[in-house]
Amino acid sequence: MRQCQEWQRKLYDAGWAGISWPEAHGGRGGTAAQARIFAREQAFFEVDTGVFAVGIAMVGPTLMTRGTSEQQERYLRPLLRGDEVWCQLFSEPGAGSDLAGLRTRAERDGDEWVVNGQKVWSSGAHHSDLGILLARTDPDAPKHRGITYFVLDVRSPGVEIRPLRQINGVAHFNEVFLTDVRIPHANVVGDVDGGWAVAHTTLANERNLIGGGTAIGFRDFLRLAQGVGGTDDPILRQRLAAAFMRFEVIKYLGLRVQAGARRGGAPGPESSVLKLAVSRHVALNGDLALALEGPAGALLHDDAPYGGFWQQQFLGQWGVRIGGGTDEVQRNVIGERVLGLPAEPRPDKTVPFRELVES
Ligand SMILES: Cc1cc2nc3c(=O)[nH]c(=O)nc-3n(C[C@H](O)[C@H](O)[C@H](O)COP(=O)(O)OP(=O)(O)OC[C@H]3O[C@@H](n4cnc5c(N)ncnc54)[C@H](O)[C@@H]3O)c2cc1C
Repeated sequence: MRQCQEWQRKLYDAGWAGISWPEAHGGRGGTAAQARIFAREQAFFEVDTGVFAVGIAMVGPTLMTRGTSEQQERYLRPLLRGDEVWCQLFSEPGAGSDLAGLRTRAERDGDEWVVNGQKVWSSGAHHSDLGILLARTDPDAPKHRGITYFVLDVRSPGVEIRPLRQINGVAHFNEVFLTDVRIPHANVVGDVDGGWAVAHTTLANERNLIGGGTAIGFRDFLRLAQGVGGTDDPILRQRLAAAFMRFEVIKYLGLRVQAGARRGGAPGPESSVLKLAVSRHVALNGDLALALEGPAGALLHDDAPYGGFWQQQFLGQWGVRIGGGTDEVQRNVIGERVLGLPAEPRPDKTVPFRELVES
């Protein structure tokens, strides 16, 4: 965490943080392609900016397009400088794929909002300073229309954070309980009850973030294969060739999404195509890595080759396939918005949320 922050600060001071961000917000005013090239080069060194991913890739673009000038002034530079870490407080025990079904309530009290509810799967909340939070502010409106988007100081009284341990042994995400938490009205992003549109901006950027893939490249698989003699095995050679092609296809899908962004459009269904392709790619890569390691692939942690690095990649695949919208949900988006298939029946879309909860 500290090393991450120090590196982010160094990047900021040298003008390399936020390469594609406007100069007015502390960025370099460059292009997304330049940012990608820098990220690829950075991946060759043992430096990490992962804790800032939510902030830089999701919160930044949302505040730049949807925030007030006061919010932009207050939050964007500290974020880029690495002073403040952000988390995303959207999902709830009963609201993941159906995020608009969220039940956390926010009620207005003068210049403040009082929030009660529970969030879950909140990545990095335990080391965050600030969070983007969705809460229901009008239960009498249909479910997508009565939601407001807030900035929450995670250290506020009434916020309780409990880490959750995952399949790979790491406690990456958390349950977050909110009890009479007070948020100033100035922290509303966008319109009151208009948070769904703001959330869309965040979620599309999240898909692009996950679609950006991991720092692992084909060269890492080749090195692993050469180390275990896998390049002599005809079946493994075929799988390596297929992996190479996937890496290339995903590179071009990423460029396509970037080109769309350069034309000024909000990320569209192509980000679902990218996200789905990456999640499939990560799953196949996990299988390939363990196949290359052979029987030793069944070991874990320090007993395994490379300290269990590839086992972590294998076990991490489910996170990529679920987080930021599951594979099935991406398929729904592609089916409806790319292929023009009939829409999923959504009879609850026009019903007041209160009636859905009571029924
Ligand atoms: C690694 C990771 C990090 C995460 N980080 C965060 C975070 O920081 N902040 C945050 O708010 N959330 C976070 N999440 C939560 C994530 O957004 C949700 O897990 C995700 O949206 C799925 O919701 P769910 O877990 O409630 O599953 P559910 O929505 O209950 O889905 C269960 C199953 O039903 C399927 N399903 C659901 N609806 C449909 C449908 N309409 N059509 C077809 N199939 C369907 C799903 O594909 C899935 O297989 C994270 C998740 C992971 C795995």
